Amino acid sequence: MKNLRSLLRTVFLWELLVGLSVTLRNLFRRKITVHYPEEKTPVSPRFRGLHALRRYPNGQERCIACKLCEAVCPAQAITIESDVGADGTRRTTRYDIDLFKCIYCGFCEEACPVDAIVETRIHEYHMEKRGDNIMTKDKLLAVGEKYEAMIAADKAADARYR
Ligand code: SF4
Ligand code: SF4
Repeated sequence: MKNLRSLLRTVFLWELLVGLSVTLRNLFRRKITVHYPEEKTPVSPRFRGLHALRRYPNGQERCIACKLCEAVCPAQAITIESDVGADGTRRTTRYDIDLFKCIYCGFCEEACPVDAIVETRIHEYHMEKRGDNIMTKDKLLAVGEKYEAMIAADKAADARYR
């Protein structure tokens, strides 16, 4: 009996018909394919994308070179060197993030006591030549300056989730 059923399934291409029925069922359903990059889906304010270093509204760097982010980074992607500035405050002289090592865990942002290092919602970026994977302090500050309004809004929205 079992063999007969198996034979009939084979003869009448039962598996194929089952597969085609799935196709038929979905043929007239609403399409959910997004035509990226022309169409985009919403991005969470908590998305962990490209890093940025922020400044205070008066232009002063937020980072105080405490190196907590460097210590907490599980991928050892952050390299910081620091010195005492002319005004007596401790400042970074080097702040590099290797994006090839980074696993975008967000620990650096969590550890930062002054909200200096953040992961923005920017996820559309690329590298064109060797070394572009290193986000230097200047590059990080430039991202922070360009997207400060978005970063501040995302931070405020993030605070509402907590
Ligand atoms: S997101 Fe995680 S892995 Fe990347 S730099 Fe920050 S702590 Fe390191
Ligand atoms: S980014 Fe934040 S945690 Fe990292 S060294 Fe600067 S102040 Fe400290």
